[in-house]
Amino acid sequence: MRKILFAIAFISLFTTFVLAHDNLIKRNENHQQDVTIKTVKVAGNVYVLYGQGGNIGVSAGKDGVLMIDDQFERISDRIKAALKELGSDTPRFIFNTHFHGDHTGGNPIFGKTGTIVAHDNVRKRLLMNEKPFPEFALPMITYAESVSIHFNGEKVNAVHYSNAHTDGDTVIFFTSSNVVHLGDHFFAGKFPFVDLDSGGSVPGLIKNVGELLQQIPSDAKIIPGHGEVSTLDRLKDYHQMLTDTSLIVRKEMKNNKSLDEIKKAGLPEKYKDWGTGFIKTDAWIETIYKSYSMNMLDMKKMEK
Ligand SMILES: [Zn+2]
Ligand SMILES: [Zn+2]
Repeated sequence: MRKILFAIAFISLFTTFVLAHDNLIKRNENHQQDVTIKTVKVAGNVYVLYGQGGNIGVSAGKDGVLMIDDQFERISDRIKAALKELGSDTPRFIFNTHFHGDHTGGNPIFGKTGTIVAHDNVRKRLLMNEKPFPEFALPMITYAESVSIHFNGEKVNAVHYSNAHTDGDTVIFFTSSNVVHLGDHFFAGKFPFVDLDSGGSVPGLIKNVGELLQQIPSDAKIIPGHGEVSTLDRLKDYHQMLTDTSLIVRKEMKNNKSLDEIKKAGLPEKYKDWGTGFIKTDAWIETIYKSYSMNMLDMKKMEK
């Protein structure tokens, strides 16, 4: 009898799981159908394409199209249609600001006809993927520090900033159009995702964004990895938030508060809106906590 009851329970649990799973797949399919690519001119030769995943930056002009990040393979037809409107659906160069799938997913499509360019560690990490990309979908040109491409009448500088969102982040400066693509160094108006398992670091992020504030002209337009095109003032607000919230969490850590206690205490009310994106307040507190714990371990190692 117990066996039968167990079997019934198991079957009903299994059916529930299968139905839930099917619904999830259907929802995802619908979600994909809903994706529209919105093109907005930023300044000079530069445009931004909003779709699903990391924002795509585009330089379009007499030399053709150069793109920064390529979102997901499944929506590449839509991205191509949007690029065609700007002059060509086969970009000559594709920069990957870092290795995450929402910024490199289109590599197997755009890498067939264009040259992919990225930091050394992007190629390394893409090769570590469970299903590694074919050779043509990997960065063909890689660099340790920076590379410049002279395209559509301006110098496009791709500069590596170490250990922040990952260990292979690039910021791209369009020097005449006065536009900067920050990749996932910048989640406009939201707490950022910091990939601690892939060389990311909260203190690294704060340091780099602080340096970028000194380097970016005050009237430049900034394309964030996620969120709307922003001004330098919005990047300043973001830097202030990173600094303040990290200080709050570190102070609690110094008082030997546990992660749960810090989460329970939360962050001041004025940071509520920052937690309405992909990374909620609890997750941000945990990221800071873990990142500074790792940092302390590193410092102890160095002292030895
Ligand atoms: Zn992203
Ligand atoms: Zn990312």
